[in-house]
Order: sequence, then C-alpha cells, then structure tokens
Amino acid sequence: MAGLKINNVTKHFSDFAALSDVTLDIADGEFVAVLGPSGCGKTTLLRLVAGFEQLDKGEIVIGGKMMSGGRANVPPENRKVGIVFQNYALWPHMNVAENVGYSLKVAKVDRATREKRIEEALALVNLQGFGERRPANLSGGQRQRVALARCLVAAPSLVLFDEPLANLDVHLRASMEDEFAAFHKRTGTTIIYITHDQAEAMALADRIAVLDHGRLAQFATPRTLYEEPANEMVASFIAQGMVLPAEILSGAREGFCQVRILGQEAVLRCRPDEIARNDAKVCVRADDLDVVETGGIAIRVKRSIYRGGGSRIEAFPVERPDIDLHFDLPDPARLEEGAETRLAIRTGWVIPQAEG
Ligand code: ADP
Ligand code: MG
Repeated sequence: MAGLKINNVTKHFSDFAALSDVTLDIADGEFVAVLGPSGCGKTTLLRLVAGFEQLDKGEIVIGGKMMSGGRANVPPENRKVGIVFQNYALWPHMNVAENVGYSLKVAKVDRATREKRIEEALALVNLQGFGERRPANLSGGQRQRVALARCLVAAPSLVLFDEPLANLDVHLRASMEDEFAAFHKRTGTTIIYITHDQAEAMALADRIAVLDHGRLAQFATPRTLYEEPANEMVASFIAQGMVLPAEILSGAREGFCQVRILGQEAVLRCRPDEIARNDAKVCVRADDLDVVETGGIAIRVKRSIYRGGGSRIEAFPVERPDIDLHFDLPDPARLEEGAETRLAIRTGWVIPQAEG
C-alpha cells in the first residue's frame, strides 16, 4: 500500500492543455474520487499516474518513490499500480482463474504460488470457488469483479478505477458501489476512482478531487464540497446547486453573512473573510428553498415533474426570467405550469471570490 503525491502536474496534447498545474496529496489507504464532466482530464491524470503517459511538468510520487518528474520515469510495470477500466475485457476462451492469473503466468510465477494468489484475489472480491467458470457464464457485476481480481493479483500498492460502473445498469451500479466500499474496507488499499457521477463519488470517497477543464477546482470531503463549494463550477456540479447573484450587505460574523438575493434578504453561511460587496454569488439547493405566502421571491412555474411522493418544480423569478430555480414539493401539494407563488431562501452558502 502507498500514498500518492501529484505535484503541479501539467500535460499538453500539442497545444491543448489537458491538465494544468494539478496538485493532489493522497494518503496511504485513502479512497479518493476524481470527479468532473467528460473531457476534463480524468483519464489523462490516471494514465499519468500509471505511467502510460509522460507529463510535461511536475512530479508523481508513489509510496515516497519518484515515478515521474525530474529524471525519473519508472515504466508502468514497475509502479505496482493496478488499473480497472470501464471496458474490462476478459478473455472469453479462458476461465476465471486463467483470466485472473494471466499476468502471473507471463511473469513465470510457479504454479502453486499462482494458484494461491488467484484464490486470494478471488476471495478479496467475494468470488471464492468461481475459478472454473467461463466469463460468458457470469453476470455483469461478477465479470467486473473478475476484472478487479485480475488487477489485485499483482498485489498493487495503489488501485486506479476509470469509470468502472459506467456501463452497468442502475441496480447493478448500486450493488457494485457497496462492493467497492466493502473491498476498500477489507483491504485498506489506496484507491483513485474516476467518475463523472457526483452521487457515486459522494457515496464512495473519503475525499473528492473536482476537475474543471484540466484544473483542480476543489479537493475536499463530500460534505465540504456540498456545503462549502469553492467556486461556481463546484456549486453547480455537486447536487445541482443553483448559483444566484447576490449583494453582501455585511461581512462575515461567526460564519454568516447578511445578503440580498433577488430582492430578498437572508443570512447565509460564508467564509470567515467575506466582506461586503455587490458582485457576490451564492449557492442554494432545492432543500434550501421554502414555498411561502408572503415575502420571499415571486416566481412562476415552468414545469412540474412528478417523482413519486412529491414533485420537482422548475421555475424562474418573475423579475428575472433568465434565472433557473428548482425545488421539491411533497405530495399532496401541487404547482402547475404557469402558477405563481413565492419562495424564501432559508439557508445557503456565499461562494468565495475567485482568487487572483
Ligand atoms: P475525461 O477522462 O475526463 O473524459 P480525458 O482525460 O480522456 O478526459 O481527456 C481530456 C482532454 O484531452 C479531452 O479533450 C481529450 O480529447 C484530450 N485528449 C486525451 N487524450 C488525448 C490524446 N492522446 N491526444 C490528444 N488529445 C487527447
Ligand atoms: Mg475518461
């Protein structure tokens, strides 16, 4: 097992910056998700860690050993890094044990040792006794676990997952999430888990690194990302945050600011260094909004989507049709398209001012 340091890593493809100055310090045994929309550089980061790709600038240090950067360039096979991809290709003509043990056979590990390590790897993914089966006779989730065992058999110090659940149906995904969490608990392996799905990242990771166009937007616990997003991108990407223009009427006091949002005054959480300014942005979520009779913000309903037990309402401020709002209404209350009502902001977060 090993920690991972990614220090100021930059990677270009010709003149396109796929990663710019990314720094992540990951502790031994930590489960870290790398989260961001398609094309933000997640796979590139993983390929750099694995050694499949050369960096332009910066360093990659695994278990205290320089792997890339300076004069170092350790080849992938000497990094002790295991990778599980989204398209986990198992060899159909080999049984499970042969698939799992293939790399050991290539490395000329003797038969008895091989068999022992295959059994151990299968036990780690809860597939004891499946060695004789063919991939064709396994479920999607079982095949994914074989791919994981195949990676674990090499005793990696670090396991990298690249969107391992993206091809699975929604029920299987939920049970595989449980499997990954259990696997991490059982082994204590350091895990870097790539996904574009914020709910998956929140469910699994100790900390989440959010990437935005090749830059690190924030690296924090799921709770901090949700409650204290560092910028507008994180605010809107995590749990569908609404980013609204606001005026800070009085600076931070004990973690709160007095703000005016769309004509309504509210007291929101903020950083301790927030000062009065008229160009602020705040993040509020569906849960932070209450339908009220008086006060609040006048809104008009655009769409009502029934979700079982209640509805998701999409709306806009009457005075600002360009701003999208959404909130949830429990049954039996209803709001039809075109209806007008008022919304009060109960709580929220002042998004810190961009640095520099
Ligand atoms: P993600 O995994 O977050 O979807 P990638 O790391 O695969 O993103 O890609 C980030 C960006 O770098 C994309 O715009 C992609 O087109 C580009 N890219 C990735 N690999 C290469 C490559 N080998 N050559 C040129 N461009 C690449
Ligand atoms: Mg990718």
